[in-house]
Amino acid sequence: MVESFPVSSSSDEPQRLRTMLDFALYYANEGLRVLPLHSARSVGSCTCGQANCSSVAKHPITRNGVKDASCDPVQIREWWRLYPDANVGIATGEGLLVVDIDPRHGGSLEALQALVDLPATATVQTGSGGLHLYFQYDKQLALRNTAGKLAPGIDTRADGGYVVAAPSRHAGGNRYYWKDRRPGYVQAPDALLELLSGKAIRQVISSPTPTPAAMTGDTTQPRNLLVPEGKRNSTLVSLAGSLRNLGANEEALFIVLQAMNQACCRPPLSAAEVRQICTSAVKWEPGTTSERLSGLDGLKDAPTLLQQELPEPQWAVPDLLPEGVTLLAGKPKMGKSWLALNLAVAITQGSPALGRLPTQRGQVLYLGLEDHERRIADRLRKVLQDDLPPVDLMWGGYWRSLTDGGLEDLKGYLTMYPATRLIIIDTLARVRPPTASGGSIYTEDYAIITPLKQFAEAHHLSILLIHHLRKNGASDPMDEISGSTGLTGATDCNMVLQRERGQREATLHITGRDVEEQTLHLTFDEDCATWSLLANPTETKKLSPDRQAILDLLESMDRPMSPSEISALLSMEVEHVRKKLFLMKGAGQVSSVGRGLYQPPDEPGSQGVRQDAFDFNDERPTFL
Ligand SMILES: [Zn+2]
Repeated sequence: MVESFPVSSSSDEPQRLRTMLDFALYYANEGLRVLPLHSARSVGSCTCGQANCSSVAKHPITRNGVKDASCDPVQIREWWRLYPDANVGIATGEGLLVVDIDPRHGGSLEALQALVDLPATATVQTGSGGLHLYFQYDKQLALRNTAGKLAPGIDTRADGGYVVAAPSRHAGGNRYYWKDRRPGYVQAPDALLELLSGKAIRQVISSPTPTPAAMTGDTTQPRNLLVPEGKRNSTLVSLAGSLRNLGANEEALFIVLQAMNQACCRPPLSAAEVRQICTSAVKWEPGTTSERLSGLDGLKDAPTLLQQELPEPQWAVPDLLPEGVTLLAGKPKMGKSWLALNLAVAITQGSPALGRLPTQRGQVLYLGLEDHERRIADRLRKVLQDDLPPVDLMWGGYWRSLTDGGLEDLKGYLTMYPATRLIIIDTLARVRPPTASGGSIYTEDYAIITPLKQFAEAHHLSILLIHHLRKNGASDPMDEISGSTGLTGATDCNMVLQRERGQREATLHITGRDVEEQTLHLTFDEDCATWSLLANPTETKKLSPDRQAILDLLESMDRPMSPSEISALLSMEVEHVRKKLFLMKGAGQVSSVGRGLYQPPDEPGSQGVRQDAFDFNDERPTFL
């Protein structure tokens, strides 16, 4: 049995990772052993103080080096308390193998791939422009570090080794960052382990139900692909698709598919069934095949359909941004792009969206097609404030039209970033083909959205399309979405952002298939370019404990009170009380009667809209 090193689920990730300590603890929580490394004081100068340090910002601070590496949070906190800026090292071995590709010494991913067929795995871009590929392996296999054994410029780190981890800063000033951070680590390919260990690796065949053939199969053979019953059609159909792309005719298809069927399918399909796949395969246009045809295996009868446990749709933001395609429309300069960027950052951080809605943490692709790179960078800086730039947020400034390769590019992107939760296209007009003269806008809109929707559903992600409204508003916000009902009809969710120019507050009208029809009230904070949610006026929201205590006291006393009196009775700092009263007054939770005296509000709830705006801004959880 393959024994893997422990990797926890991503749900334990801290809400925001801001300090080197946060990252060290995060890795330790994944079961990785970490250690503090020296860092660079300034470019090229090591904190070890040696003028001619040969390993600037890379060597361990602790006496015993990698032998000190630990998962113990107490130890880790102590190290980074002493050295808050220390780079983070991750000890390798014990089931963790890292392949280090250094282009400065001639290493390249291509050179490695020429040796071994590598699956995509968690990958760090190093501060010197190289790559660290993280794999797991059976830790009973004693793997040592190697240098140049695989190819020039390609080293490996295993037992007794360590690597510099993201987001450490390289001596040259650049940070290490996760280029591909998927949950868990992919099993190292046997061929790679064989090259490193010099031993043959016995292939472990996993199949949902072990077939007699698999159990009695000749295990001295290095590889033996077995296709179980539920996968036979899709495997052969997919093979047929590849062969069709090469131009194979029906006879060639039949010969190859039948050979595959006999050798690998358990039990094999009948010759007639294989023939049938080939007959329909020759009717496919080359290049448009396998994906669509795997639907053959997806046919189910009604009892099966009702028996199975269907996965819940994934939400990028529950009750707001569903799996599928969402259209976010508004007049130009209303703040749509800010809103999209706010959502993107919240999802990559796993922090609340619009200040208070929980998010599903994941990778986000932001296609900012109407703005220059510099402008996007400025915006991002403003939104992030002091937060570290999220490694999971990818930006693209150019994309092909969806009908001219753009959709295929999105599919390609997903193979590189499979943990993608949200793709933002800002704006839809930039990836939409020009309307053909004489064509139906309705049909064309539908034809644009439908494949996007299928793509989003297949990968359980959300796609947010930013779309401009016409200048002249209609009475129904949804009617304002320009173009045709082909757009709004095909999407899963539609949102319209409306505000008067220059106003901080706005409404977001939402309708959708799985989303409750609702109108959210938002407010825009210019300083950090952030949209946040004002409460629904009818929502009864609990006050924070301090505010509730103050209000309870005022109500029980039945006379106006001063901050110092409240402070004494509630044992709170008088400044704290004063600040709370000020905010509560703004929120309509208390009223003042002049001379610094306060009493319960005249009409409770009459200013409920404001209430939560202050409540929230005041008590937003902070992560340090
Ligand atoms: Zn040093």
